Amino acid sequence: MRHKVLSVRDISPTTYVLRLERNGFEFTPGQCVNLGLPGTGVNREYSTYSGAGSEFLEFLIKEVPEGTVSPKLRAATPGTEVDLHGPYGSFVLDPQKITNSKFVFIASGTGIAPFHSFVTSYPELDCQIIHGIRHAVDRCDIEDFDSDRLVTCVSREPLEGRQGRVTDYLKETSLETESFYYLCGNQAMIYDVYDLLRQGGVSGDKIFTEAFF
Ligand SMILES: Cc1cc2nc3c(=O)[nH]c(=O)nc-3n(C[C@H](O)[C@H](O)[C@H](O)COP(=O)(O)OP(=O)(O)OC[C@H]3O[C@@H](n4cnc5c(N)ncnc54)[C@H](O)[C@@H]3O)c2cc1C
Repeated sequence: MRHKVLSVRDISPTTYVLRLERNGFEFTPGQCVNLGLPGTGVNREYSTYSGAGSEFLEFLIKEVPEGTVSPKLRAATPGTEVDLHGPYGSFVLDPQKITNSKFVFIASGTGIAPFHSFVTSYPELDCQIIHGIRHAVDRCDIEDFDSDRLVTCVSREPLEGRQGRVTDYLKETSLETESFYYLCGNQAMIYDVYDLLRQGGVSGDKIFTEAFF
């Protein structure tokens, strides 16, 4: 299905939000789609960033230097057509748990995309979001998150007196073993956090993962 680009909004030197017309496309928050430019025969998976009720579709994308697709999508201008296939994936919330469970969402980099879609779609969610980034400038639309629920872990410079990775934060925190844990981003973070959660007594059936690369 073809969707027109509405805008490309820079978040930081490395990260941008691609906004497409919705065209009636339906998805469950947390699912991903395949995006590519027509005629190139190459596409990549991107998680939905916007909420289920939004009038447009948004994706939070890191521009990978020398990457095949992510730089081309950043260079798209309003009116450019993009091929979109999907939705795919099962990194979604159990509808029966949305109103009566606690969630902890742990992301690295653009792995915060599905969690932005969750909190935008389900404002009643009882959740904490732990976001790992290298530089403070990589924070994404923090005003869309309840500041009491968002913890930003910056690894390469201090932010508000703290510096470190999500794993450092988790080691200092007592883990709630009844919560459901959703992990999204690079594989190394997911492996490290998974191990910490298991060591902290969280059962494997309460941990859900989505690896980007
Ligand atoms: C289920 C799923 C959902 C995804 N959702 C998102 C998303 O919401 N936002 C997003 O930015 N990416 C997402 N990705 C990653 C995305 O699909 C592409 O891999 C990424 O955009 C690079 O594509 P490219 O063609 O530009 O680079 P390629 O030409 O494919 O080059 C790939 C190289 O870049 C590395 N790479 C891929 N992603 C990153 C990254 N974020 N940081 C550093 N190196 C990277 C790969 O390991 C590889 O070495 C997702 C991947 C999966 C599997």
